[in-house]
Amino acid sequence: MPSTASSAEPQQILQEVFGYTAFRGPQAPIVDHVTAGGDALVLMPTGGGKSLCYQIPAIARQRAGRGVTVVVSPLIALMHDQVGALHEAGVDAAFLNSTLDWEQTQDVERRMLRGEITLLYAAPERVTTPRFLSQLDSLQERGKLSLFAIDEAHCVSQWGHDFRPEYRALTVLHERYAGVPRIALTATADALTRADIVERLQLEEARQFVSSFDRPNIRYTIVEKKDATTQLLRFIEREHEGDAGVVYCQSRRRVEEVAQTLRDAGANALPYHAGLDAAVRQKHQDQFLREEGIVMVATIAFGMGIDKPDVRFVAHLDMPKNIEGYYQETGRAGRDGAPADAWMAYGLQDVVNQRRMIDESPAGEEFKQVMRGKLDALLSLAEASDCRRVRLLGYFGEKSSPCGNCDNCVNPPQVWDGTDAARKLLSTIYRVQQQSGISFGAGHIMDILRGKTTEKVTQFGHGSLSTFGIGSEFSEAQLRGVLRQLIATGALTVDAQAYNTLQLTEGSRAVLKGETQVLLRESVSSPAERKPRREKTARGAPSPAAATLDATGQARFAALKAWRAEVAREHNLPAYVIFHDATLAAIAERAPATLEDLQGISGIGSKKLEAYGSDVLRVCAAF
Ligand code: ADP
Ligand code: ZN
Repeated sequence: MPSTASSAEPQQILQEVFGYTAFRGPQAPIVDHVTAGGDALVLMPTGGGKSLCYQIPAIARQRAGRGVTVVVSPLIALMHDQVGALHEAGVDAAFLNSTLDWEQTQDVERRMLRGEITLLYAAPERVTTPRFLSQLDSLQERGKLSLFAIDEAHCVSQWGHDFRPEYRALTVLHERYAGVPRIALTATADALTRADIVERLQLEEARQFVSSFDRPNIRYTIVEKKDATTQLLRFIEREHEGDAGVVYCQSRRRVEEVAQTLRDAGANALPYHAGLDAAVRQKHQDQFLREEGIVMVATIAFGMGIDKPDVRFVAHLDMPKNIEGYYQETGRAGRDGAPADAWMAYGLQDVVNQRRMIDESPAGEEFKQVMRGKLDALLSLAEASDCRRVRLLGYFGEKSSPCGNCDNCVNPPQVWDGTDAARKLLSTIYRVQQQSGISFGAGHIMDILRGKTTEKVTQFGHGSLSTFGIGSEFSEAQLRGVLRQLIATGALTVDAQAYNTLQLTEGSRAVLKGETQVLLRESVSSPAERKPRREKTARGAPSPAAATLDATGQARFAALKAWRAEVAREHNLPAYVIFHDATLAAIAERAPATLEDLQGISGIGSKKLEAYGSDVLRVCAAF
């Protein structure tokens, strides 16, 4: 089919179908490029608005007679809701996956083969089956294969944090359907992963669209771990009572424990990890998406593709593997643009654990080296005493200035000069190694420096070392901070294969010689007592979207929410798929009397106006 200008204007589709007035950030050029048949690689942070970048071209191209867009997505458990959201907007969409029975599958395939479906969602392992490919062949022959959208494209890369080998087979799309445009999208964008995606998916010719990765409404806070669960409880009580949130833990056991502790404290917490039955996992995910104020305690098995807009906080009780993972996970907070928190507790033990996992993995040395580098970058973020956001964005290659919305900007930490302590620690490690011929762990080294005559000190005769007791003025917490910092900057390593002993490195020398200054955050004994940022509108039912409404407006808003919950239940979809809170708040504020009054409110497209307009007016008329 010749490439002609599309007949439906993207801008018009944005308004008519989705009810939005303007494209956001780089959406407009992306949509134009893909609608015109160009290949694209889109790097945009979570919540940036990636879906419209392929949905609008799919609709435009379908209207121009080009047929079906195939959306490759790894998220079978979410396809139902994704497709449901499109149906609500009046778009012909469907999915093919194992949750359909034979008849349903045949029905979808028939409609697809007729070129009727605008967006067809399928997992990569389905897309690359001979059966599916032969169906695509048939579409292609009739000029009804419009576009491929490859979502979560970082899954193709082993450097990403969600590697899915099935993604590798997607090169067949390019090879077999060379003339069909492709758009790949991801929220992961460090340079290495990006290059890998381009190579693996053969997107060398594709235009790259890299957005700013900033998420200004998210406040980053990283605290030193003491009793992490208690710290988390306080954080939730102080700032997020009744809010929806996600708490990430490293292990399944921790997930279960923490979920229980939160429940005991009165929070509505659910566990999620790969050890749970698939049905239980799906149930908990549905509850999280459909009910309000649920705290999901999870391993990183949870979260990809979760588009719940009103997650108010993401907490890490254990340190993730790298900044990409941290950024992707924290990005799940505050997609609606309202204030949200990313909170993490970390400690020396996290560093040791992560190191061990890398060292003990069966991967090759080159891979391990990359992983260690990535861990170190995250560590130095955690140890930083300057703006977290500047560092985060810097990691993704973006320059910025202090943000005013991270812990270090809001409460600049006291900084102390740990150079002397660092030198004393390193020379103790050196001397112990010299004298005993073996290395020791952090606890013993600190004991020597602080002059504690422990059993071990006596046993190895370390009381006679020249550094014994010369650091008695330092607290253990201070020394731990110094050790973490030294590990973070590569001046010291932890040998996980030898009982987590501390080893000097090339980088130790500069510190020992006093050439490198070691500046540290003052260890804060209690997390800074900051004031809650916002008044809750109603206990247990906060809604930043409705914060500015007057009393009648609030009542209207509450009634609209109750109505929405009803509709969502009937349609078996999350409430935000019907209307976002922000849309309901805008309706409540406008107090509409006619259908015209509803026009132009963000989030009300023509299909929703037709389907729900009169109901909304009826609900509002009661006030
Ligand atoms: P991503 O996939 O990049 O994480 P989504 O596509 O889920 O982000 O979009 C995030 C939210 O922003 C969604 O609720 C979406 O409806 C909304 N959104 C996207 N683009 C626009 C726009 N141009 N105007 C208003 N809202 C938008
Ligand atoms: Zn900052």
